[in-house]
Amino acid sequence: MTQTVFSCILGHAALVARLQSALHHGSPGHARLFHGPEGVGKQTVALAWIQSLFCLQPVTNDQGLAGCGTCSSCIKCTTGNHPDLQRLELLEKKSRISVDQVRELTRAMSFTPLESDRKVALIDDAALMNESAANALLKTLEEPPAHSVLILITSRPGALLPTIRSRCQQERFHPLAPAEMAALLQRLAPGLSPAEQSETIRLAGGSIGAALRLADPGVLEQRHRFFRTLESLSVGSLNDLIAAAQEWSESERFAQVPEYLETWFAERIRASVQQGASLDIGPEQWLEGANQLVRLAREARIFNLNARLTLEAIFIRLARMRGVAF
Ligand SMILES: [Zn+2]
Repeated sequence: MTQTVFSCILGHAALVARLQSALHHGSPGHARLFHGPEGVGKQTVALAWIQSLFCLQPVTNDQGLAGCGTCSSCIKCTTGNHPDLQRLELLEKKSRISVDQVRELTRAMSFTPLESDRKVALIDDAALMNESAANALLKTLEEPPAHSVLILITSRPGALLPTIRSRCQQERFHPLAPAEMAALLQRLAPGLSPAEQSETIRLAGGSIGAALRLADPGVLEQRHRFFRTLESLSVGSLNDLIAAAQEWSESERFAQVPEYLETWFAERIRASVQQGASLDIGPEQWLEGANQLVRLAREARIFNLNARLTLEAIFIRLARMRGVAF
């Protein structure tokens, strides 16, 4: 059987079916906004749909039309060479998408398609357009060329102009379910042990992008080392505490501390809820500690506070929570 890109997608079943059905009925629409959490597959679904739009011999399935994955158009989509596909992304060393980039895109969209009966534009991340870029795009959205299909992707739809949002058909993506995450991790990170896989799924919040970052062997090892450091605080050695604060104050490591702390606290809170009164520290105390210490770690980075002193304060507070008196 021919493998299509759509057939490789896990999750988002209703949304994918809606997109395929729109193609089947010959009505892809002029503008769609794909929005939802980071790393759940918005771009992957968009590219599969674009492939289906351009495919020379689309496959009909239960849900509608899908790209065949093997014709010359499908292959050009996969390799990023289709002449009727315009992609707009952030340029290197820039923080916003500029009006010139949008003007160039809209000009290209106004030309007759070369190999297809449509021209497709993909803007990722659309929320990075500055105000004049967004206004330039708005003109195209108000009067789209007959053959054009625009796809905007963002995890921050609230940062788009309301007038842009209202002119797009909205496709909302949700976090992936644990079973979908497990199947994707099996495919994309097959080296994980069952314990590492379930830890990664628990921490990734339904984002396969986050899961792949978390599952990186170096990141896994570093996170576990930080957790071991936090556990060792209950032993009560002030020298070890000072040494640990020094070690984790190195800027790249310190950058990860808020996320690691948040993860560690989330585990403590979950365990204390499950085990109830049998533990010395209740969920409320863990929650209060998490609120204060994760915020302290974050603000220390934002306000450029001394990392070592911040970590010493965090570690001392954690040790005290566990009954160690310094
Ligand atoms: Zn094809």
